Amino acid sequence: MNTTQSDRWQVEVERRLSQGVELEFTQAQFARTVEAAPDDVGLKIFLDGLVGATSAERHEVYRCPMAPCARLLPAGMANTVCPFCQADFEQEGVTAEVEPVYRLVGEGSRDIRWLIVIHGMNSRAKWQEAFSWEIANRLSYSAPVLIYKYGWATIDVFARWLHDRLARRLGERMRIAIAEAQKSRLPDRPDIIAHSFGTLLLSRVLENPEFADLKFGRIITAASIVRPDFDWDRLIAQGRVEAVLNHVGGQDRAVPFAQYAIPGAGPGGKVGYLAASTLNVRAEEYGHSGFFLPENLGAAISRHGLWQAFLTRPLARFRPVGAFVAEADWRPAPLVVRMCTRTLAYGVFWVLAPFSWVRRKIDP
Ligand SMILES: [Zn+2]
Repeated sequence: MNTTQSDRWQVEVERRLSQGVELEFTQAQFARTVEAAPDDVGLKIFLDGLVGATSAERHEVYRCPMAPCARLLPAGMANTVCPFCQADFEQEGVTAEVEPVYRLVGEGSRDIRWLIVIHGMNSRAKWQEAFSWEIANRLSYSAPVLIYKYGWATIDVFARWLHDRLARRLGERMRIAIAEAQKSRLPDRPDIIAHSFGTLLLSRVLENPEFADLKFGRIITAASIVRPDFDWDRLIAQGRVEAVLNHVGGQDRAVPFAQYAIPGAGPGGKVGYLAASTLNVRAEEYGHSGFFLPENLGAAISRHGLWQAFLTRPLARFRPVGAFVAEADWRPAPLVVRMCTRTLAYGVFWVLAPFSWVRRKIDP
């Protein structure tokens, strides 16, 4: 056994552990992937070494010794007669073949159960259609996807009481969806992808005691306007949320201003989340809606793309490119500044509200 060879084997072991796939295998199966001979002595020493270092476990399976059959015999059977080819081993003068099976010690991959997508400001932009299409077609799982629409929300974002109404509606819709999922025997925890204003609405639902019964799987926030100090750690510790990926655009020009215009907002999609149990990842080139450009979205949800990987892989070893830790000294802008700018925005809201109302009537 030379080192380059065992290095290659180790790389394959790491790949399986990080993706949580093919954790269990026989030596022959492993040999096929690394292009070694099925009975390579060096490989056996390597695999047994993993067992010795407690990073793998070994158990034995029995195989029918009759060449045309050669099937694995069910565990726990007194293997004297093959249940498949009916060969009587004693009569044939053979014994069942013993084959070691290795199992890497690690968490297996996870299925995407079903998804709720919460958009940012609603618009009839083309990307929204493209988004629905891509999500439904490019995920290599056929998980049901609910795209939540909250109608026109343009000027509404400046008024807290309108947020509360939008957030309550979102919470109620999610509760109905979860009940429907349970009826169709889907797990009751959806995974979530939220963008921009959708991230703020989601955070409102999460901190509203009225919706404390709603539990979620893994959450992706893109271009988040949630405050960096939002207490995700508590939600994760309480089991309300399984894990959080915060996808930040390095060129996002909208997120930094959110706190000056939108009550309760903050630059989570710029600074990152301070909560230690969240994962912040920066895409340097992305602007505010860069996540949904067809090529970027396609990449994110492709088989080994960031979003799909986050939703399916064991997270203990998940360290994607662009991962960063938010600086702990983040403080919101001075309250007096935020009050002034928000009052201004709120004023604009009242001036423009009638137009928004008219637009809603014309184009609901
Ligand atoms: Zn058999």
